[in-house]
Amino acid sequence: MTDASTILDGLNPAQRQAVTAAPGPVLVLAGPGSGKTRVLTRRVAYLIGVHGVDPHHILAVTFTNKAAREMRDRLEKLLGPGEAAALTVGTFHSICARFLRRDSIHLGRERDFAIYDTDDQLRVMKRVLRDLNLDEKKHAPRAIHAAISRAKNELIDPDAYSRHAHSYFEEVVARCFARYQELLRGANALDFDDLLVETVRLFEEHPAVLERYQERYGFLLADEYQDTNRAQYVLLKQLASRHHNIFVVGDEDQSVYAFRGADIRNILSFERDYPEAQVILLEQNYRSTQAILDVAQAVINRSAQRRRDKRLWTRNGEGVLVQVIEGYDQDEEAQLVAGEIARLIAGGAYQPGDIAIMYRTNAQSRAIEEALIARQAPYIIVGGTRFYERKEIKDALAYLRLALNPFDDISLSRVLNWPARGIGQRTQEDLERRAGAAAVPLYVMLHTLAANAEAAADQTTSPAPARTGEMPSRARNALLGFLTLIDESLDRRQTLSLGALMDWLFERVGFREALRREYGDEEGDDRWNNVMELRNVAEQYADLPLASQLSTFLEEVALVSDIDTLQEERNAVTCITLHQAKGLEFPVVFLVGLEEGLLPHARSADDRDALDEERRLFYVGATRAKERLYLLHAFRRATYGRTEIATPSRFLHDIPPDLLQRAPKRGYAAAQMVTGRAAALRNPRRNQAAPVSPHSAAPDGPRAISFFAGQKVHHAQFGEGIVVSSKLVEGDEEVTVAFVGKGVKRLLASFANLQHV
Ligand code: ATP
Ligand code: MG
Repeated sequence: MTDASTILDGLNPAQRQAVTAAPGPVLVLAGPGSGKTRVLTRRVAYLIGVHGVDPHHILAVTFTNKAAREMRDRLEKLLGPGEAAALTVGTFHSICARFLRRDSIHLGRERDFAIYDTDDQLRVMKRVLRDLNLDEKKHAPRAIHAAISRAKNELIDPDAYSRHAHSYFEEVVARCFARYQELLRGANALDFDDLLVETVRLFEEHPAVLERYQERYGFLLADEYQDTNRAQYVLLKQLASRHHNIFVVGDEDQSVYAFRGADIRNILSFERDYPEAQVILLEQNYRSTQAILDVAQAVINRSAQRRRDKRLWTRNGEGVLVQVIEGYDQDEEAQLVAGEIARLIAGGAYQPGDIAIMYRTNAQSRAIEEALIARQAPYIIVGGTRFYERKEIKDALAYLRLALNPFDDISLSRVLNWPARGIGQRTQEDLERRAGAAAVPLYVMLHTLAANAEAAADQTTSPAPARTGEMPSRARNALLGFLTLIDESLDRRQTLSLGALMDWLFERVGFREALRREYGDEEGDDRWNNVMELRNVAEQYADLPLASQLSTFLEEVALVSDIDTLQEERNAVTCITLHQAKGLEFPVVFLVGLEEGLLPHARSADDRDALDEERRLFYVGATRAKERLYLLHAFRRATYGRTEIATPSRFLHDIPPDLLQRAPKRGYAAAQMVTGRAAALRNPRRNQAAPVSPHSAAPDGPRAISFFAGQKVHHAQFGEGIVVSSKLVEGDEEVTVAFVGKGVKRLLASFANLQHV
């Protein structure tokens, strides 16, 4: 046992009260940065270290896999190495995936099921539309899928959905829902939502199984409780219904996942479900300065919904005022951010890793990324081109998934003709049609074709039997070649370690050569390196029993959420959406795009509840900042291909002016008035006195033009390009380059390190 004082060290009285509360239901409600996550972690340590609870009996739910890892690390420090190993910590999805691997047999499901990620789900959805003869253009696959996902999070199954479908759209969704589930079932696959739904069903239909889990997990804890949806809520309730040892922490004001079915009312239900619950409020904020808290508070206080009034206060001091900066358009907004970042770093007080840029929509990251590249600032885009979304990685994973579960139709279609092996679109469609008609997975149909081909070969005198249809023999042979490959890999995975299986498979497939053929030697090798990076990941599974290496690996890969690609060890600026920023903290935060239509988002315009949620998003973003907060907006912005004058966000108006420091308006506004709209449209940036932040002039003074139209250049990130024009701006040279396949970019010569070629 560990000394209680170590575990309670650095906690205030209210936090201590929460950590040491007697077993039973506990609800901790408190604002951002008040130590909820810290308290939850210490509670686990306290249960183990002081109450002597076996970690095996503890289940803790976190918002991301990364948060789960952090919790483990903290616990190792508090309790000593190895102590936390037996603990179950993870997101709802990863925890449910574990449960189902163990017990899906009770649901009549193979344990080697595939987990379909967002991209796979969309592919299935498109196939559903094709199967039902619905036009993709009229019925957006994403919208239908979103409706299905919402239903699942509410624990509504296709039948129930169909019974309650009222509108035409809902009727379409109902049909698609049923077919979608059929296809998943046929492929022995689950999507993310199914992981929850099926676990709830498992517990509902098999009380003995539930009892086993209730006994195992005598202590439950959940972070970010305000964002649980119905399915998650029910799951926790099922597990806790016997012992009531459930400890949850949350903040109503940070609930931002209503579109995914999260329901703040779950907090209220908690007190109803467990009338004996202790409710503990934390007040002091340890994260931010008072200046930042006041701004966040001013915006949340204007919510339409009734909320419990809580005042955020801190002993961290007033701090510097929150800054409001207006850019001319989204590109200048991004440049101002990048310029200020350069200034902060040059000042020595901050490193790139201390800084985050947050935005409402993913599309906003494009301008930011370019501005950071132009400044050569290291950055990571959370949820951008994720490693696991790269084509070559998805292809490699598809082969590995087939080695585990050949009925996985999505993976099979994906690599059926990659690398090219003479299976054309027509052949593929033919195969899909046959499989569809026989209601079997593609893999089974391949075997049927193989059997028929053999039968035909035996009857050498007669022509091929009609059952094989008119499939040309070349196509059929190509299919059979592929089938052999899949069957071989099914064999190999019985005897090979995961790493060895990958080596064998990639060699057998001719992966590297195929990449080089398709993308040329240079890019082909780049992509091959990514595949090798995947091979490196396999080493982490080498210690597991052979039989579970592949399935565990694929499961974890499928569940790596965007935020989990965030590598802390890299000292880089973090670019992240507001939704993903929950629970995180950074010394410096830039919130960009504070405009009507963006934040609050256009979708929320006429909906009071949606508008409140936008407010909470702002609140979450602002309260990530520890020391400095910048709020940016642009004078005009291009969205959906149209450039329009942007109205500053109403949230800016909600903040008393004395809490803000506004950067002085600069040249463009005056120029705008004189020259009018036409000039601005012709070339917006030319109207400005200062295209980059005034604080950060180029490092090496005035220089002569060194790039001319027509010259070929090379850029580390964008590759080969041709100079369109170049001019001196503020002592630096602004070069406009058309990059092959990457479009036209404007770069500052002093930062971009363009090479003549
Ligand atoms: P959010 O709602 O944003 O998730 P939270 O309530 O979970 O916030 P934490 O992340 O646990 O807050 O804590 C915020 C910061 O304050 C962390 O850096 C944490 O280490 C620190 N902190 C929490 N409690 C204390 C304390 N009593 N003394 C010193 N620092 C503390
Ligand atoms: Mg937290």
